[in-house]
Amino acid sequence: MAPKGNNVVVSSIKLEKIFSMKGGKGESSYANNSQAQAIHARSMLHLLKETLDSVQLSSPEVPFVVVDLGCSSGSNTIYIIDVIIKHMTKRYEDLGCDPPEFSAFFSDLPSNDFNTLFQLIPPMANHGGSMEETLAADNHRSYFAAGVPGSFYRRLFPSRSIDLFHSAFSLHWLSQVPESVLDKRSAAYNKGRVFIHGANESTVTAYKKQFQTDLASFLRSRAKELKKGGSMFLVCLGRTSVDPTDQSGPGLLFGTHFQDAWDDLVQEGLITSEKRDSFNIPVYASSLQDFKEVVEADGSFTINKLEIFKGGSPLVVSQPDDAAEVGRALANSCRSVAGVLIDAHIGDHLGNELFSRVEKRGTSQAKELLEKLQFFHIVASLSLA
Ligand code: SAH
Repeated sequence: MAPKGNNVVVSSIKLEKIFSMKGGKGESSYANNSQAQAIHARSMLHLLKETLDSVQLSSPEVPFVVVDLGCSSGSNTIYIIDVIIKHMTKRYEDLGCDPPEFSAFFSDLPSNDFNTLFQLIPPMANHGGSMEETLAADNHRSYFAAGVPGSFYRRLFPSRSIDLFHSAFSLHWLSQVPESVLDKRSAAYNKGRVFIHGANESTVTAYKKQFQTDLASFLRSRAKELKKGGSMFLVCLGRTSVDPTDQSGPGLLFGTHFQDAWDDLVQEGLITSEKRDSFNIPVYASSLQDFKEVVEADGSFTINKLEIFKGGSPLVVSQPDDAAEVGRALANSCRSVAGVLIDAHIGDHLGNELFSRVEKRGTSQAKELLEKLQFFHIVASLSLA
């Protein structure tokens, strides 16, 4: 029997047309598997607040506009927007001013599950009430909300219209897998692998170039959209090693059990090795130096802060001694972020087969996984130069 999964062809479709975290509220949805991101974001709140303190306040007559880029479909984005608006409100009040009206844009790629997100957004507070009443009403929001579909690697907003951009755990997603990495005739062809971790030098160079091009496009667009005096707070996966073939946490997530599970499918004859090799994870965990070089070459932004922050494990488990739970957490956390791409490449039946192998492999190495799988984040606070 011919290996299955060969007739699902998506590599030519642009990533941004299909990519999203897993929507809905099911077991492997992003909404259900983003507690680690929530914990990591909370441990960085002091850094976010430093950025918020650097934003120049304009007249309270003019609405204050905040954007979350790569908002996804869980509650993390709503929590962060709430923190930002409460903090900014207090800054105005500390000056003895009435706060302005707030506008919050939730932005992500068009295939993001905006329906699930919109259902999680609390209702608007009673407009007749005072600001104190509004803030006291915990289950209400004190901002106007809207969703904005589109890639953050291009323009999304009118010029000089935004006070603050926030983006968490998103900018390590490249706009595409570099074409040469999927081209058999190229030296950068990533034969035998589904991620850059441990790949050859040409593959790594192609990934790095893609990261530089993408981040530069991101900065160019945001530089136009920010109001003078506005700021950005950016968090994305980073690596501690100088060498990009060592991708730190994401290297372990996508380069070990996940890689082995793809190899299982090939060895069991469920897919061809070419089918595996034509799939690659479009993630690049940059070093501080990689990130800094792009910001400096662009020149539109002053770096207020740029550091690497230890976020911790991406696996949140209630019983660390329960190997099966750890294996399940690995499979779910991998599937919640990359599942849509995998199902598009091999179909959801083989996607199930793949993740059952990720789970099995994770279960057998549970202790080591909990110890070694750690995420580091690049944290950048930038203002218009
Ligand atoms: N900020 C959220 C979600 C992070 S998941 C949190 O803190 O939990 C990463 C998100 O980035 C996904 O929803 C993904 O769709 C989005 N993303 C990836 N590439 C993107 C792009 N080019 N433009 C806009 N969003 C993108």
